[in-house]
Amino acid sequence: MMTPGPVLIPEKVRITYGAPAIHHRTPLFEKDLRFVLDSLPKIFQTQQPAYIHTSTGTGGMESALVNTLSPGDTVLVLEIGKFGQRWTEIAQALGLSPIVLASEWGHPANLEEVQKALDQNPNIQAVLCQACETSTGVLNPIQELGKIVSQTNAILIVDAIAALGATDLPMDEWNLDIIIGGSQKALMLPTGLSVLSFSQKARDRFSKSQLPKFYWSIEREHKANLKNQTFCSSPVSLIWALKASLEIILEMGLPSYIKRHEIIGKAIRSYGNSLGLHVLAQTPSPTATAFLLPDSISGDRLQSIMAEKYGITIAGGQDHLKGKIIRMGHMGDLKKEDIHSVFYKLSQALNELGHTCHFEKQESLLEGLPELP
Ligand SMILES: *Cc1c(COP(=O)(O)O)cnc(C)c1O
Repeated sequence: MMTPGPVLIPEKVRITYGAPAIHHRTPLFEKDLRFVLDSLPKIFQTQQPAYIHTSTGTGGMESALVNTLSPGDTVLVLEIGKFGQRWTEIAQALGLSPIVLASEWGHPANLEEVQKALDQNPNIQAVLCQACETSTGVLNPIQELGKIVSQTNAILIVDAIAALGATDLPMDEWNLDIIIGGSQKALMLPTGLSVLSFSQKARDRFSKSQLPKFYWSIEREHKANLKNQTFCSSPVSLIWALKASLEIILEMGLPSYIKRHEIIGKAIRSYGNSLGLHVLAQTPSPTATAFLLPDSISGDRLQSIMAEKYGITIAGGQDHLKGKIIRMGHMGDLKKEDIHSVFYKLSQALNELGHTCHFEKQESLLEGLPELP
């Protein structure tokens, strides 16, 4: 599985996930939850608490909005792909007023336009963006966005579902107000958890925010967390799995874990280029790559040959890029040999479809790759 979520789960995490679950309101589990709640802020690189929702990543996106905004609030959406569009859809569903700044797919957000939109609309309450836009493999200039938005009253909300842990996003240092992560991406877990953290500027909105909320209420969650509990029933197996994956990441050290994704990302782009494929993203993400296919090749057929003949799941394009690109994730428990072998098989499949290319194993691409302990 080389998809940008879900990803291959390390064995240690799988074993923990499969252990017989215990009741969540017990001292034994509460101790493990405390460990997770204490460790998570290290991944966000923040002094603020981090929270866990039993939901997919999108639930975390909705939670970020309902905890900090009020009906009718104007928000600026930096729509650089499919997941940017999701921000607009959630904002509309919640009765917010989104202003959409769209970029051509493959491009990052345009900082000058962001600055201009903020200058022209001083009532913007929040700027919504993706760190890595998984539909195109683009990495946004998050540090620069943090600088721009911190000069205003707006908060910067970063969907880092395919980035948190795997890319450098120092929340406090870069003035990022809300970061959202998801379990089945760089955290190497099964699907089912979203995690998020709020800056002081964002926390000051909790008591003023008037969007309706019950399950998503961070204030309720915060109160429960102070007692080493979650507000509703804890997903015990997933929290245990999160504990195991945090142990892996912290044992490696966050900088090594980030470096690992950079190296794999570079290797994948370079291997793709060597087979005559071009990277779609102008500013490529270290967690996912989209390759443009030659016109003569159907992405759907390539995907099905890879799956049926070679047993490898890769992702296709969405919307107008359907059939025109393939996407690969670089997260999870990938071994060096897996990566070499995927490109060997991809070269075979491309040749079968009439795109002549030659695979040459390049060990040097993955030299010095920090391995998962
Ligand atoms: C995967 C992903 C999501 C959606 O996550 P779900 O867990 O499917 O809700 C949102 N944003 C980005 C950038 C993603 O990669």
